[in-house]
Parts: sequence; C-alpha cells; structure tokens
Amino acid sequence: MEEDRARRHRRRMQRKKAVVDAAMARATGDRGVLLVLTGNGKGKSSSAFGMVARALGHGLRAGVAQFIKGRQDTGEEAFFRRQPGVRWEVLGEGFTWETQDLPRDSRTARRGWAVARELLRDPGLALVVLDELTYPLRLGWLSLDTVLADIAARPRHQHVVITGRGAPDALIAAADTVSRVEDVKHAFRAGIRAQPGVDR
Ligand code: ATP
Ligand code: MG
Repeated sequence: MEEDRARRHRRRMQRKKAVVDAAMARATGDRGVLLVLTGNGKGKSSSAFGMVARALGHGLRAGVAQFIKGRQDTGEEAFFRRQPGVRWEVLGEGFTWETQDLPRDSRTARRGWAVARELLRDPGLALVVLDELTYPLRLGWLSLDTVLADIAARPRHQHVVITGRGAPDALIAAADTVSRVEDVKHAFRAGIRAQPGVDR
C-alpha cells in the first residue's frame, strides 16, 4: 500500500519534471522584459526594489524613477542611494492632487518623464524601475503613447518595471510579465500606521 503510493508519487513527479524540463528547454531567449506590477494589494514597489537588489547582486546597474506626490523618507531610497550602481530620481515633487492645476501638473510630469527617458536611453542600465508611473498616466498628466514609444525604443537588453494601481489596458497589453497584487488584508485598516522596514 505504502509502496504503491510511493511509486505513484514517483511517477507523477517524473511526469512533472519532464514538463518543467521541456518548458525550460524552450525558454532560451534573452532580451529585456517589461514588467507591470499593479493591483490594490501591498507589495508592488517593494517587489520592484527587490529586483534592483537582484540586479546589483549580479554586478548590474539600475535606475529608479519615482513618480510620487511628495517626499517620503523610505528605507529603500536611503539604502539604494548609497549604492554606486544605482541612479535614483524622485520626479513627483510638485504634483498636487489639491490644486487640480492640469497645465502645471502636466508640465511637472513631462519634465519628470524627460528624466525617465534618459534612464531608458542609458545602455549601462540593466534595469529601470518606473515606480508609481500609473498615477500620472491615469490622471492624464503623461501621454501613454509617448511612454510606450520610449519604452519600446530602449536598449534591447534593458528590463523595465512599472508599478502602481490601475495600470491602463494598453500598458498591460505591451508588457511581458504582469502581476496584479490582490488586497486581501492590510494592517492599516486595523489602525496600524506605516511601519519602517515594512511599509516605508
Ligand atoms: P509597497 O511599497 O509596500 O510594496 P505598494 O507599492 O504595493 O506597497 P502603494 O499603493 O504604492 O503600494 O502604497 C504604498 C504604501 O501604502 C505602503 O506603505 C503600503 O504598505 C501601503 N499600502 C499598500 N497597499 C495598501 C492597502 N491595500 N491598504 C492600505 N495601505 C496600503
Ligand atoms: Mg508603490
């Protein structure tokens, strides 16, 4: 009985290994991929910065452009700014949800995009993170066509990670890898404020 189960398990695992091996044998391509991390759950930006750590671990260089509303002291910014292989740009300063001044905010966003475009044109950067890019896109501050064209024109081996809630369909269509992080629970709703090392 026990032996039967062990034999069946072994056969199942052998079949599974054959399927995995065949898939791995097919996946031999190398090129830069476009990743989109979206959804309402926690874990998008921290996953993107995890990839920055991976890239650095392999001796590669990375660029980060943060499209955030204001200055927030985050652990990853403090850490990665100390790394020689990282170029870190905060491009959101000046965006305001309050003024609803579209010409001004579009101007700020376009100036920010010009810096992001420099990262996308730098062949020395193996990885470019465009953190919270979905916000200026959703608010109409940046043109999705421009953004997609600049991403398409990047060096062939450069990877790009875009984070933010509500990624537009055209961005999802253009991406190679897309994860939608689901919000199942968040401690904030139980009254726990942002914790250093976890939330910022
Ligand atoms: P992280 O930077 O932790 O990976 P994120 O990039 O997925 O989070 P954002 O929408 O950029 O999420 O929000 C960043 C901040 O908001 C973090 O402090 C995070 O813990 C918090 N946060 C993320 N998702 C939620 C949520 N569903 N409810 C409450 N707070 C959230
Ligand atoms: Mg984020």
